[in-house]
Amino acid sequence: MQPEPINDLSKLCIHTITTKPLSIEDAINKYASLGVSGITVWRDAYGPYTPSRIGRLIIDSGLTPVALCRGGFFPSANEKKREAAIADNIKAIEEAGDMGMPMIVLVCGADPTQPLALSREQIKHGIEAVLPHAEKHNVRLAIEPLHPVYADTRSAINTMKQANDMADHFNSPLVGVAVDVYHIWWDEDLQDEIHRCGNANRLFAFHVCDWKVPTSDILLDRGLMGEGCINIPLIREWVNSAGFSGFNEVEIFSEIYWKSSQDEFLEKIINAYRLYV
Ligand code: ZN
Repeated sequence: MQPEPINDLSKLCIHTITTKPLSIEDAINKYASLGVSGITVWRDAYGPYTPSRIGRLIIDSGLTPVALCRGGFFPSANEKKREAAIADNIKAIEEAGDMGMPMIVLVCGADPTQPLALSREQIKHGIEAVLPHAEKHNVRLAIEPLHPVYADTRSAINTMKQANDMADHFNSPLVGVAVDVYHIWWDEDLQDEIHRCGNANRLFAFHVCDWKVPTSDILLDRGLMGEGCINIPLIREWVNSAGFSGFNEVEIFSEIYWKSSQDEFLEKIINAYRLYV
């Protein structure tokens, strides 16, 4: 049984990376004029603006600030790099605070020269070190499990179970999980782990795109919803029935779409959102 498609855009959020060629100002204005409701800002998109100025532009446009992407990348065999990562995460939390962003997405990191279990310990240590700053600025930290293909350099947290275990360890209202369909669609325990996450009030974010078949690039060939093999409406149903009522965030890294007209791409996003989310 397929859930009903979404007809309104009140839960549609777009990540600035999705329309990477647009300036932050253009992204904000275009999203707002198309009836998109929320925006997640990537830290590479600031352009000439300060975080607080971007926060002002977002509020003035009528969009809701959803999240800042991204923090994390805590593990390293090199202690200096681990310290630098913690400092950068503290900076990101301050930026989120200045921008009025209620949440930061954590791509937790991994170092291929050391065991994944050690990287996970360093992630734990990193989150522990930045949590007081998150509390000070009232910014939530959303641990995003990444597909195991990224376990080499991008994340030692690869399943919802690992993300839930990490969030459980902190048992803080500010530490939760970001569910991105691209990373977890294949997991046989997905439904149970989504409900576990929701029951603990730790389901902070829901990201959508699609897994193209075949995919030509594991990083930069994400598909528009409906272009691939992920049953997005079913996962959305699980997420919603786990108590999630936040935004459905469209996050697509695509060399193909970045080369196309961003106005046409935004129209396609909205159509695909209505049909396949
Ligand atoms: Zn994501």
